[in-house]
Amino acid sequence: MQTKDILKELSPYVPGKTIEEVKEMYGLEKIVKLASNENPYGFSPHVKHVLEDSVSSLEKYPDGYARELRRTLSRKLDVSERQLIFGNGSDEIVQLICRTFLEAGTNTVMATPTFPQYRHNALIEGAEVREVELVDGDHDLDEMLSQIDEQTRVVWLCNPNNPTGNIIRQESFEQFMKAVPSHTLVVVDEAYVEYVTSDDFADAFSALDTYSNLMITRTFSKAYGLAALRVGYGISNESLIEQIEPAREPFNTSVFAQKGAIAALEDQPFIQEAVRRNIENKERLQAFCDQHELSYFPSETNFLLVHLPMTGDEMVEHLLKNGYIVRSGEALGIPNSVRITIGSEEEVEGLTKAMEEKLTEVVPEK
Ligand SMILES: *Cc1c(COP(=O)(O)O)cnc(C)c1O
Repeated sequence: MQTKDILKELSPYVPGKTIEEVKEMYGLEKIVKLASNENPYGFSPHVKHVLEDSVSSLEKYPDGYARELRRTLSRKLDVSERQLIFGNGSDEIVQLICRTFLEAGTNTVMATPTFPQYRHNALIEGAEVREVELVDGDHDLDEMLSQIDEQTRVVWLCNPNNPTGNIIRQESFEQFMKAVPSHTLVVVDEAYVEYVTSDDFADAFSALDTYSNLMITRTFSKAYGLAALRVGYGISNESLIEQIEPAREPFNTSVFAQKGAIAALEDQPFIQEAVRRNIENKERLQAFCDQHELSYFPSETNFLLVHLPMTGDEMVEHLLKNGYIVRSGEALGIPNSVRITIGSEEEVEGLTKAMEEKLTEVVPEK
C-alpha cells in the first residue's frame, strides 16, 4: 500500500508509560502519574452519578449536534449556540481546523516548543510549518508576525503554553491581533484557562467580538478532570464555525462525553476547589525548587517545567524507580528539565522527597 509521503516521516503519538507498565517494570505497588496534567482531585461526583444513570439505550446514536451540552455551555459563556463546535477532545478541534484551512501550498505559524498536535495535523494536511522559538518560555509574537505571509492560513497561540506554562499578556495579544492580516486565522488554545490567576492574561474571549479571524479552543480534560471522556470545544463567530462544521464527523462526541460535560459544568465549586489546591501545591513545589536553586518557568497552569543540573531523562528514571511518572524535558524540546504535573499535597511531598535524593547526589548539601 502507498501512503502519503508525509506519513512516512511522522511517528504515531507515543504516550507516556502507563501506571500498569511502570508497576510491572519496577515491581512497585503504588504509582503516582504526574505526566499528563490530569486533575489529581479527579472529577465532580455529579458526573459519576449522571454517567451511572446513563448506561441504557446504548443501541442509540448520540445527538450529533450535542444540543443539550451546547445549550448549557452557550448560557454559561453567554455566546450563541452557533458559536460553538464540540470535538472528541480539543485534539479533534485542532484536527478539524487543520482539515478545514490547511493544504499543500499554504503555511501555518506556531511557537516551538508548544503543543505538538498543531504541527502534526498541519503536516498531514500538506501545509508548511513555520516554527518560532520561544524566548524565555514566551511566544515571540513579533517574530511570529514576521513569518506570516499571503499563504499563512492559521497561527497558533497556546495560552498558557504547554510545556512552559507561560501566558501571553493582554497588551501583546492586542497588538498582535491588530497586526495579523484578516486572511490568517488566530487559534488560541486555552486548555489550562481555568487555572490562570494572572490579571494580565490575554482576554481572547472578549476579542471574539472584534476579530472575525479568531478562534478559541478549550477542553474538559484538564481542570474538569474528564480526560477519559474525550470532550473539548471551539468558540468563534458563527460564520467561522459554519465553515468548519462540514469537516466534523456526524457523531464525534459520545453520549457519555456530552452528559458528563454538562454535569461537570454544573459543579463549579469542584473546579474552584481544584484550582485553589493547585495554587497551594504549586507554591509548595516552587518553594522546593527555590530551596534547591532550581529555576522554573512562571506557570499559570497545573504543571511546572523545572530546570535541572542533569538531563531530564536521568531524573525521570530516578523518579520512576520511586513510583513517580513525570515528563522528561528532552522529549518536550527543553533539555535538562522535567515537566511535573502539580499533584495533591501528599503527591508533591513524596515527589520532592524523591527528587531531593537525586539532587543531593550531584550537588553537595550546603
Ligand atoms: C491537554 C492539551 C490539549 C488536549 O486536550 P484534549 O484532551 O484533547 O481536550 C490541548 N491543548 C493543550 C495545550 C493541552 O495541554
